[in-house]
Amino acid sequence: MPEAGRGLTMDGGIRPGSTLAQSVSRSPDTPDVASRADLEALPKAELHLHLRGAMPLSYLRTKFRKYPPGRAIESARPRLRDRMLSQAGIRRILSSANPSREAHRLFAYSSFDGFLASYLFTGYFVREAEDLRELVSTVRQTLREQHVTYAEITVSVPEYIMHGIPLDEIMAVLAEEPDGSPTVRWIVDLVRDFGPDACEELLERVLALRPPSLVGLTLGGREHVHPPAPFRRVYEIAREGGLRTTVHAGEGRGPESVWDAVRILEVERIGHGVRAVEDPSLVRFLAEHRIPLEVCPTSNVRTAIYASIEAHPVRMLFEAGVPLSISTDDPSFFGVSLAEELAGLRRVGFSWSEIGDLAHGAFGMAFDPLAAAAQDP
Ligand SMILES: [Zn+2]
Repeated sequence: MPEAGRGLTMDGGIRPGSTLAQSVSRSPDTPDVASRADLEALPKAELHLHLRGAMPLSYLRTKFRKYPPGRAIESARPRLRDRMLSQAGIRRILSSANPSREAHRLFAYSSFDGFLASYLFTGYFVREAEDLRELVSTVRQTLREQHVTYAEITVSVPEYIMHGIPLDEIMAVLAEEPDGSPTVRWIVDLVRDFGPDACEELLERVLALRPPSLVGLTLGGREHVHPPAPFRRVYEIAREGGLRTTVHAGEGRGPESVWDAVRILEVERIGHGVRAVEDPSLVRFLAEHRIPLEVCPTSNVRTAIYASIEAHPVRMLFEAGVPLSISTDDPSFFGVSLAEELAGLRRVGFSWSEIGDLAHGAFGMAFDPLAAAAQDP
């Protein structure tokens, strides 16, 4: 889940061609990538992907029949209801005699508020453990079709609890490990907007029920309102409980947030982290300490962190030697697949060979290295 951008430019960033080593070294077994078609066929790893952000249209169409949209959002508080109704596509869905036919309009928002309204709306269609199970299954199928063989999927647990699914049932669904590709590992998002005390309490309950497939912790939500520092104890508890750690930082706030993430939360990876580029000493720190950024370029453009892919700092970070994994964040909402996200890097100066190395390198940044290695070509 991304943050609202503020149309930032990259003044004060680092210069291309820095002397630090490239972030990904080419190994002899890296498959050759020389075209978009090669990327499509390449086995890939997704490390920053939100479950609801990957909700397929087919899932929504089915659920609109189970939960007629007008009735589904009746329980929403007036403020949230008004926010959803501000999106023209949602109004069309609600007024249609056949909402399933209009479902695609949910992803045709025209502003960041429209994106948030659509995201909020999808929550009303995952209300029982069976819905969650179907959502997981349809997302897995989408990933399989893209040749994603290893995925770490972020599940914002409080959102599903709010819509009526008890925590133990959520954990039971996450514990299911169906045969076949992709191998899925879960990252729990406690949603920072609930504050450190509530996150701590929920994390304790999650850890008590934790299935082996749940491997990591992140915090999504409004970074500009809830910076990382107050969540230190939450991250200590996660580490004591055996979870690997990442956090959304350097997206809605600048480098100070990324500094706090690495120094106070001591995370192993950073979700987004792209605004680190505004502080050259931080960029050097990330490169020297090999702390990967989970970079989602299309998300950053669609949410106005950067005006265009051409203005995105991914190339500068790469040339400075910061380890990068490329991901899609909320692909259904941003209309992008992982192969498209990777191919888009051609527009900022990456060669096919470098893109292939980045795709391959993501397997080595996984929070379950053994499972990822088993899916690595
Ligand atoms: Zn995210």
